[in-house]
Amino acid sequence: MFKTGKRRHVAACVLSVVLAATAFMTTFNSENVSAQTTNLLTAAWAGPYGGVPAFDKVRVSDLEPALEAAMAENLAQVEKIADDPAPPTFANTIAAMERTGRTLDRVTTIYGIWAANMSSPEFRQLETEMDPKLAAFADKITQNTALFKRIEAVYNSTEKSKLTPEKQRLTWRYYTNFVRAGAKLDLPAKTRLSAINQQLAKLFTRFSQNLLADENEPFLELKTEADLAGLPQSERDAAAAEAKTRKVSGVGAIANTRSSIEPFLTYSTRRDLREKAFKLFVNRGDNGGARDNNAIISEILQLRAERAKLLGFPTHAHWRLDNVMAKTPERAMQLMEAVWKPAVERVREEVADMQKIADAEKAGIKIEPWDYRFYSEKVRKAKYDLDQNEVKPYLQLEKLREGMFWVAGELFNFNFKQVTNVPVFHADVRVWEVTDKTSGKHVGLWYFDPYARIGKRSGAWMNSYRTQEKLDRDITTIVSNNSNFVKGKPGEAVLISWDDAITLFHEFGHALHGLSSNVKYPTLSGTAVARDYVEFPSQLLEHWVSTPGVLQKFAVHYKTGEPIPQAMVDRIKKASTFNQGFSTVEYLASALVDMKLHLAGSQKIDPDAYEKKTLAELGMPSEIVMRHRTPQFGHVFANDGYSAGYYSYLWSDVLNADAYEAFTEAGGPYDKKVAERLKKYVFSVGNTIDPADGYRQFRGRDPKVEALMKKRGFPVK
Ligand SMILES: [Zn+2]
Repeated sequence: MFKTGKRRHVAACVLSVVLAATAFMTTFNSENVSAQTTNLLTAAWAGPYGGVPAFDKVRVSDLEPALEAAMAENLAQVEKIADDPAPPTFANTIAAMERTGRTLDRVTTIYGIWAANMSSPEFRQLETEMDPKLAAFADKITQNTALFKRIEAVYNSTEKSKLTPEKQRLTWRYYTNFVRAGAKLDLPAKTRLSAINQQLAKLFTRFSQNLLADENEPFLELKTEADLAGLPQSERDAAAAEAKTRKVSGVGAIANTRSSIEPFLTYSTRRDLREKAFKLFVNRGDNGGARDNNAIISEILQLRAERAKLLGFPTHAHWRLDNVMAKTPERAMQLMEAVWKPAVERVREEVADMQKIADAEKAGIKIEPWDYRFYSEKVRKAKYDLDQNEVKPYLQLEKLREGMFWVAGELFNFNFKQVTNVPVFHADVRVWEVTDKTSGKHVGLWYFDPYARIGKRSGAWMNSYRTQEKLDRDITTIVSNNSNFVKGKPGEAVLISWDDAITLFHEFGHALHGLSSNVKYPTLSGTAVARDYVEFPSQLLEHWVSTPGVLQKFAVHYKTGEPIPQAMVDRIKKASTFNQGFSTVEYLASALVDMKLHLAGSQKIDPDAYEKKTLAELGMPSEIVMRHRTPQFGHVFANDGYSAGYYSYLWSDVLNADAYEAFTEAGGPYDKKVAERLKKYVFSVGNTIDPADGYRQFRGRDPKVEALMKKRGFPVK
């Protein structure tokens, strides 16, 4: 099946859409064959809910033979389709392909979870060996000439126009995916392409492992009480716990991950330590020596440029954007440039506000990047009378999770019930069964892995362990949300920031996109949509955090149980466009550098120098760095996933802002009719329709950029 492939060490928020091509499915018969082998990883998932992953039986040493066996089985299945003597039809070619690769899909699901959530030295060794093999395997299928001839014949047949729209779109997907992967090339070009893909796979793995090591190993040691100055109690506790885990003698430790570094930069009054923490974090992958990512990136860019040329595109960016909503790099650049200018102007105002406070305090400093979060917090307090630390006691992780469930009930008619009868891969993981509130019918499972730990990559993401489909029988989905909250003391409520609450709802939006899926073919299921469309459903969900229904019932004080005061909510709302200059510029700088790197063609690039030069040309404010500097840009260099695609978050946000106005223009955030249209044309359709058409049907017109500008507080022209 075409969806997804290796859901592995991916820095983006949806693991399942990341790879363009590759896992393929096996028939149901072959499941019986695999069940007889001794390797439990290749066996069909057993147990309740149509089977669940046997996480309690996973041994890393079983992964390699399981992957090898599953790839071999998959190739045999595909060859059978390619060699079918009957004339090619939708049923014997396209639908048949949808039935291949089931075993591999299950094994790569486990493999992906171990890469993202459970990495270890043993696993990393396996990864280094297996990633190029998986890349070569994918090429063997897309380069199978007899198979492509059959797919092409169905695509060009008169039969096609008589198929259902979903079948026609599936046929189109297979055809374009094969062509995009080089199916039409001659043999020498195919051979070169496959060599490039295998070399890229090796480089991606090295890039990710270097980044993971730079996040896991270095840390900031807080030696004395004075080093904790300014930190709120929750951060002090977390730092103490981290020091204990790392067995350091000081009073605390700050891990080199976003979720630990950013609060430190926000609250520490020790400017010298802020600078240290900042430099540690922004230099991940950029410290020279064995873990430096610059040479790897340079080679990745060259190989991508060469591959694009082989495939008939001027650059990697043109190849990547050809099959998504934006269609061309020019259209994506146009949107980014339109937003860049007002965002930079806003940063100037934000910095002026901060400088004023620093001057009034006689700090005798010029705002530097390690001061931005610290002083913007002071501006927030001064301008909006809003202290994030006053908000935090109302934001309990578990209460907000209940709030998300409640929203899912209101908008999608889902009910969540915790279950304990399924295995998990770590004691911190919990599972809920999702059912339809009215009929009680089983919808799917939602796994939740909330806490940071060594071996888990940073950030937050959604993963889909099994996609919904109705090809031969009803198969329900299994999705998961993953984040890196700091666990804190046993039995104590985990308090999170407002931004973290937004991220929590965001990832849950991806999960709801998967859970709402109602399609026949697995390749078109759930979140397997265009890269610049997939963030739209998740970004949309973010709006519901600040709806009264959630705030009054679920944003309750962890000690008193009192709901968050209305006056505080009003202040949060008033401050909603606060700091948008900063967040837009740090994001857009990354998105623009990503696009420019991939429009640069085959010139040899020194990433550090290129980044510097490009930012200077853009007029990047000196007080801000890219959200993801090139040497740590996992979205772009841990795989092909978001390469020339980081703009997607902005593209989707245009849809998101415009779509939310459909609710506010109607009866508000819980308007049943708008929610129904949202489910019908956006959340349930997967990739069975063109996303632009789906959006038009939901909204009654094309999206407009004005809502986005308004949402960020930028002038609307
Ligand atoms: Zn996302």
